[in-house]
Amino acid sequence: MLKPETLLYPRPAGLYCPMGDFYVDPVRPVERALITHGHSDHARAGHAHVLATRETLDIMALRYGEDFAGSKQAVALGESLEVGGVSVRFHPAGHVLGSAQIALENRGLRIVVSGDYKRRPDLTCAAFEPVPCHVFITEATFGLPVFHHPDPAREIGRLLTSLTQFPERSHLVGAYALGKAQRVISLIRASGYDKPIYIHGALAKLCDYYVCEGIDLGDLRPATLEGRSGEHFKGAIILGPPSAFNDRWARRFHDPLAIFASGWMMVRQRAKQRGVELPLVISDHCDWPELQDTLRDVAPEQVWVTHGREEALVRWCELQGIAAKPLHLVGYEDEGD
Ligand SMILES: [Zn+2]
Repeated sequence: MLKPETLLYPRPAGLYCPMGDFYVDPVRPVERALITHGHSDHARAGHAHVLATRETLDIMALRYGEDFAGSKQAVALGESLEVGGVSVRFHPAGHVLGSAQIALENRGLRIVVSGDYKRRPDLTCAAFEPVPCHVFITEATFGLPVFHHPDPAREIGRLLTSLTQFPERSHLVGAYALGKAQRVISLIRASGYDKPIYIHGALAKLCDYYVCEGIDLGDLRPATLEGRSGEHFKGAIILGPPSAFNDRWARRFHDPLAIFASGWMMVRQRAKQRGVELPLVISDHCDWPELQDTLRDVAPEQVWVTHGREEALVRWCELQGIAAKPLHLVGYEDEGD
């Protein structure tokens, strides 16, 4: 069988397939790019050719403009195609809308690049599908035994409890624009909350896109004052990008209560640094048990760890008798979590 490194290896621009002459999620402009999902650390503008799911192409166009690449080709989940003699197939990753793992196959060797993924249920995207392979390439953002993310429904329950305890206060929830914001709204709706949810302008385009794709987010309204006083938002849920919390936008609401939805809210110090009163641990990445479950489900011969807490996951693999190595890829700063 082919040596895995003949099919795919890391270069400064990203994971490169010499046989097909393409990169997966390159961090610099390249001739041919296969993109796993729309987060800005994976999906960059300026490539000559881009192959991705239709949703990822749509999301890139929304964020960068229609001319983000020289040419674009959409691939459906589960569809196989040939790129320079290499068989390529996209499988759902459960991370954000349109997110995919990319399986490459040549002469009996299969490598799966998982991009970012999670195993928790998420009504806003297709669920992760374990794809048997020889080499499984994974991130390890939360690849330490201390990272156990709680049930997201319980975290949303804490938000709703706070609303009843502090009915006068505006509940300002920080959530990244692609994936996290829509998932938080979807979780709030799943808990039975049907009042309007107010959103910052920076979230509007992507929320609209999710709704157009058939994801029910309920009654969304712009979080603009338009002559109203901050009192108007008493006891309301308002979502904004984390960056908006430091500017005037956040201060105009009535007695704002700062909330942040992120896997990093497991780390008390991070919540404190950001001045978060109510940290919600809601992640679109795998925690430590999910990483372990995935490696058991996929049962690869080798694991390559792209970035994050690489050493701990490599060590765990070795203890399980799975060959593993860190790739030390740079440029993937997980926009989404
Ligand atoms: Zn991501």
